[in-house]
Amino acid sequence: MAHAYGIFVRMHAGSFNDKSEHMSYQPSPDRYQQINYNRTGHSGLLLPALSLGLWHNFGDVDDQSVASEIIRYAFDKGITHFDLANNYGPPPGSAETNFGKILKRDFAGHLRDELVISSKAGYRMWDGPYGEWGSRKYLISSLDQSLQRLQLDYVDIFYSHRPDPNTPMEETMATLDHVVRSGKALYAGISNYDAAQSLQAFTILKRLGTPCIIHQPKYSMLVRWVEDGLLDLLEEYGVGCIPFSPLAQGLLTGKYLNGIPADSRAGKEHGFLKREEVNENTVGKMKRLNAIAAGRGQSLSQMALSWLLKDKRVTSVLIGVSSVKQLQDNLGCLENVTFSEEQLKQIEEVLA
Ligand code: NDP
Repeated sequence: MAHAYGIFVRMHAGSFNDKSEHMSYQPSPDRYQQINYNRTGHSGLLLPALSLGLWHNFGDVDDQSVASEIIRYAFDKGITHFDLANNYGPPPGSAETNFGKILKRDFAGHLRDELVISSKAGYRMWDGPYGEWGSRKYLISSLDQSLQRLQLDYVDIFYSHRPDPNTPMEETMATLDHVVRSGKALYAGISNYDAAQSLQAFTILKRLGTPCIIHQPKYSMLVRWVEDGLLDLLEEYGVGCIPFSPLAQGLLTGKYLNGIPADSRAGKEHGFLKREEVNENTVGKMKRLNAIAAGRGQSLSQMALSWLLKDKRVTSVLIGVSSVKQLQDNLGCLENVTFSEEQLKQIEEVLA
C-alpha cells in the first residue's frame, strides 16, 4: 500500500503529457518545521494544525494556475492534509479531477506517502436512487468514482458525509469498515453527525474493528453546536475533530466589513455563502471582533482560527482559500493560539 501511488504513476506514465511545464516544483526542504502536527484522537495519524479544503476554488469554474499555486504553497508550509468530497466543484467531481491532475504533475512518486487525502460521499452526486445518502450501494460506487477522478488507488480518510435517516446505521458503518479493509481507504470518518448519531457510529465501528478516527463538523465562532456535547463525546471516545467552515465561509475575515466584493464567495453566483448572510447584524459583530483581533496583533481571520485551535480537542482546522495571500494570512494564526480571560470574555460578549 505504501507505494501504491508510485505504482499507479508508473502504470499510467504514458498517458500523462503535461508534466514538462511543471517539472520544476521542488517542495521546500524545511516544510515540516513550519507547522505543528496533532494526533487525531487515539489513532496513529498526525494532522497539521491547519488543513486545506477544496470545496470551493478548485472546480472547473476556477483558475487552475491559482489552484495549483495554492496546493504547492500549502505543502511548502507543512500542510499535508487536503480534504475533498465527491461533489466538490462546480461541476460536481471537478475538484477531485483537478486535484488529481495537480497530484500527478507535482506530487508524483514518493510524495503520495507524505500526503493525507480525504474524500466523502453522502450528498447527491448522480441521478436516481443510488446517487446519495448512506447505502452500501452508493458509498462504494462513489468512492470508486472518486478514486478514478483523483487517479489514486486509495484515499487516506473516507467519510460518510452525512447521516442517512433511512439506511440502517449498521449498513453505513459496515461499508466504512469494508472500504478500509479493502484498502481503498486507510481510515474511516464521519461528518455532520450529531452527538447521538456519532455515539451510535463509534460503537458500531469499534465493534467491527475499524474505529472512527475523526469527525468533521461545522464549527466556528458563529456556529457552536459542537460545544453542546459533541466535543466531550469525541474526547471520551478518542476521536479527532476537524472543524469545517471555520471562517464561516469568509464572514469571519475582513472581507465583508465594507460591503460584498464581486470576487468573493457571497458575490459569486456559484458560491454557497448567500448575500443575505452578510447582513448588518453580522457585519456589526465582525467589526467588533476585528477590533479585538487588532488588539491581539492579529487579523480577524487569524483570530477566528486561533480561537478554534486553543481547544486541545480540535485536531486540525479545515480552511478554504481562494488565493495564496489568504493562506499566508491564515497561517499567521499559528503564532498566537492563546487567549487571556479578558479577551475570551470580550469575544463572548460580541457573540452573545
Ligand atoms: P472557510 O470558513 O475557511 O471559508 C473559506 C473562504 O473564506 C475562502 O474561500 C475565502 O473566500 C475566504 N477567506 C479565507 N481566508 C481568508 C482571508 N485570510 N481573508 C479574506 N478571506 C478569506 O472554509 P470553507 O467554507 O471553504 O470550508 C473549508 C473546507 O471544509 C472545505 O473546503 C471542505 O473541505 C470542508 N467542508 C466540509 C463540509 C462537510 O459537510 N463536511 C461542508 C463545507 C466545507 P472568497 O472566495 O470569498 O475569497
